[in-house]
Amino acid sequence: MSDAIVIGAGPNGLVAANVLADAGWQVDVLEGQAEPGGAVRSDRGVHPGYVHDVFSSFYPLAMASPAIGGLDLEKHGLRWSHAPTVLAHPLPDGRCATLHRGAAATCAGLESTFGGADAGAWQRLSQLWDELDPHLLRTLFTPFPPVKAGAATAARIRAAGGLRALRFLTLPVRRLAQEEFTQPGAGLLLAGCALHADMLPEGVGSAAFGWLMAMLGQQVGWPVPVGGASALTGALVRRLESLGGRVHCGAPVVEVIVRGGRALGVRTVDGRAYRAHRAVLADVPAPALYGSLVGWEHLPPRTAEDLRRFQWDFSTLKVDWALDGAIPWAAPAAADAGTVHLGADLDELSDYALQLTTGRLPRRPFALLGQMTTADPARSPAGTESAWAYTHVPQKIKDDLGPDAITGRWDTREAHAMAERVEDQVERFAPGFKDRIVARRILTPPILQSLNPSLVGGAINGGTTALHQQLVFRPVPGTGRPETPVTGLYLASSSAHPGGGVHGACGANAARAALRSHRLLAGRILSPGLAATQRLLSGPREKHI
Ligand SMILES: Cc1cc2nc3c(=O)[nH]c(=O)nc-3n(C[C@H](O)[C@H](O)[C@H](O)COP(=O)(O)OP(=O)(O)OC[C@H]3O[C@@H](n4cnc5c(N)ncnc54)[C@H](O)[C@@H]3O)c2cc1C
Repeated sequence: MSDAIVIGAGPNGLVAANVLADAGWQVDVLEGQAEPGGAVRSDRGVHPGYVHDVFSSFYPLAMASPAIGGLDLEKHGLRWSHAPTVLAHPLPDGRCATLHRGAAATCAGLESTFGGADAGAWQRLSQLWDELDPHLLRTLFTPFPPVKAGAATAARIRAAGGLRALRFLTLPVRRLAQEEFTQPGAGLLLAGCALHADMLPEGVGSAAFGWLMAMLGQQVGWPVPVGGASALTGALVRRLESLGGRVHCGAPVVEVIVRGGRALGVRTVDGRAYRAHRAVLADVPAPALYGSLVGWEHLPPRTAEDLRRFQWDFSTLKVDWALDGAIPWAAPAAADAGTVHLGADLDELSDYALQLTTGRLPRRPFALLGQMTTADPARSPAGTESAWAYTHVPQKIKDDLGPDAITGRWDTREAHAMAERVEDQVERFAPGFKDRIVARRILTPPILQSLNPSLVGGAINGGTTALHQQLVFRPVPGTGRPETPVTGLYLASSSAHPGGGVHGACGANAARAALRSHRLLAGRILSPGLAATQRLLSGPREKHI
């Protein structure tokens, strides 16, 4: 008999389950797929000698997040590995901007390639991070209102320049680059990082997002789990099981059972009902919860109206390669980087992002490329490379700006045509790359969704990162908290604040909200006696559950 049911064994679901289990709750996690992990999984599906992360790969947010850091996953077998260089952005002229662990190393690289003025500007941006750290991250990772962390951040912002520091946090990354840098390298590092989310270089706050990812890279690196992404999931599952929690795979939930405005449990696709005595936590996208797992009849009309305005983030197409040698970069500095961003200049990045926004499939896709053996030698035999690249594509394609008339059907022809476009982009910066391909796998948006139903249409962040769907607007205008209109039901996925990425904060926040609510309830009813307490905590009983 469970105190809590968690729907979905993604990183947020597993973190939530661990936090509840730490508090002594009996937790059952129901996962629809055959294995746990959500978008944190690896396999040998491309080539038996190569490990590939099927979805996500680099985990600076996990490293920095108290929600995952506090779980001591290293005690459950997790080991991290780093590439020599965090990130590289090669330019067509052979120069290369690089990001390193430690501001001094990044500044040294910028100075030798792009000059002292840009290195000085980068140093100032790094200093601002030092002044706001760790309060800014704490503010982001806690639910709204982030009272303590928010007050500390506000004080630090005041000390760091007040309105000027605040203005920096609102800047589009293009504007920041114009104001701070004389050469293209440093601005490209930040703009490429902003494009990890669906943020145009002209978007409000894109500078801050890019800066945050870059500064995390300097502070904690962009680490990968030794052996593959599944090692992170494995550690989360082992920790949970050591506390008595259970993960049931192949158990898609089709309904949250609601009676009298309260979540009592869930029903899986085979008709089986699972009772949750205290809470149900949903690690599923908001549109999959509201109006789907929970019928509209249990929700206020406003939720349906708000959900109508919910915006997905860009779709995604990923290509995995087994390579028989290192990628032959024209810019040698790219060879040591775990992540390489591929886009010639800021205008190309802006064109790409605007094309995605307007439903036109880019001819030259900006690509994020992972050199996984460079980051973790355990991924493939020495001298080879396990690599991948993904690019975003529009959720709905109105027009193809390339020669292939891709419509978004994503059949074999369209998948191959788009994969070749990605490979052409790599080849542009690494002539001879295609000759190194031994095997490849193309993950189109429908394939991604078939492997994880939360990646709706290939969206990777549980909804747009744009400001109008962040903070108190995430996933819909409200409190920015994990509570839902149904008592005892909590939104624990990346659709909740603070959004996408493997940091576990959405799950941890939902678990803490459930614990808090249970404590409040228990506090209110302790005096009438234990029997009454137990009756209330158990909620109304249903025979069929
Ligand atoms: C290609 C790709 C690359 C990425 N790269 C990175 C990266 O390098 N670093 C990073 O930090 N982030 C990255 N991300 C984003 C990150 O992986 C996600 O933000 C994160 O996994 C979200 O975690 P989650 O637990 O909310 O959801 P998910 O990881 O999507 O997990 C949700 C789980 O719920 C299950 N589920 C859904 N519906 C049901 C149901 N009805 N019943 C039962 N189970 C259900 C799903 O099967 C899935 O296992 C990437 C994502 C993708 C797709």
